[in-house]
Amino acid sequence: MIKEIEIDGYEKVVHATEESSGLDCYIAIHSTELGPALGGARFWSYNKSHDAIEDVLRLAKGMTLKNSLAGLNLGGGKAVINLRNTEKTPELLREFGKVVESLEGQYITADDVGVNDDDMKIIHKVTEHVAFLDVDPSPATSLGVIKGMQAALMFLRNDFSLKDVHIAIQGLGHVGFNLAEMLHQRGAKLTVSDLGAWKCNEAAHKVDATIVSVNNIFEVDCDIFAPCALGGAINKDTIEKLNCKIVCGGANNQLSTSMMGYALKDKGIINAPDFIVNAGGVIDAYKDLGHISTDFHVANIIDGIYDRTMQCLMDAKKNNMPTNLVAEMMARKRLKQ
Ligand code: NAD
Repeated sequence: MIKEIEIDGYEKVVHATEESSGLDCYIAIHSTELGPALGGARFWSYNKSHDAIEDVLRLAKGMTLKNSLAGLNLGGGKAVINLRNTEKTPELLREFGKVVESLEGQYITADDVGVNDDDMKIIHKVTEHVAFLDVDPSPATSLGVIKGMQAALMFLRNDFSLKDVHIAIQGLGHVGFNLAEMLHQRGAKLTVSDLGAWKCNEAAHKVDATIVSVNNIFEVDCDIFAPCALGGAINKDTIEKLNCKIVCGGANNQLSTSMMGYALKDKGIINAPDFIVNAGGVIDAYKDLGHISTDFHVANIIDGIYDRTMQCLMDAKKNNMPTNLVAEMMARKRLKQ
């Protein structure tokens, strides 16, 4: 059953359920002004439907801003599939694919938390509107985050080298682990945390990282705090603990509310907005979708994350505004044009 829900500011939001697979999913299309709405599908256990709706709306809007800022002709959308009362089975994936297909290409789905390449191949059996088949977007995402970190370091101390820079990474999944490896190659010093102890041990072994508990990662005395787990890492409780100069990571929706941008600014912490710096994956998808032809074109647009981050930080300083609001204005300017 597919039910449309009217939500102000969103082009289309649907709630789809299917009994035998236990499918309970929301797809939000925030904007197709620049092109079809691209955004991943998140398979997660939400305690309340309200949490799932809130997540899908914030994530979909973030995709519009991200795609706009990266200069892509793509809109913003997202899907969340609630696994509270069910499991991710091939049947559930196919039922989700049918819902994507029913949107006739207005929404293009992709990987997100809780979903992998094999799952995407099953979804692709019932809908062609899938990006990243056989491609893991996370290395591209991590590379973009590095560009954002370099811009923030340059802004802070006129030197973008990552050598000996101390970075605390929250979450060692696809994005976090690639980021740790890339930072290690550049000589950074790493402290890490993850819910999975084995991932931390692997990071200690492979990239010489120091391990801290998931609660202690916020207060690590470091240069950069890199949220790479779920959203809302920067909230009214954690902001008190932060002991870093820069926040720059791969997670979507790092600020629990946009007001947290003011709190970071007041603390003198430079925030490189997530929807500027974590665009590497969608930029990679741009090639997959046939808009650009080679990996060099992908790398070239990812490289631009440095300039876009720098522009945002300079405008924010000039206008005495939080960087997240400045980045939002930059994205809306292109949408208006
Ligand atoms: P993932 O599922 O591979 O990894 C998430 C990791 O975070 C897991 O290892 C999990 O154990 C860990 N984690 C969860 N809660 C934690 C906590 N409280 N403390 C420490 N670790 C915790 O997901 P991913 O693909 O790496 O994505 C990570 C984030 O980046 C998500 O917010 C996602 O939306 C965003 N993102 C991902 C991409 C991409 O290319 N994969 C692109 C843009 C944005």
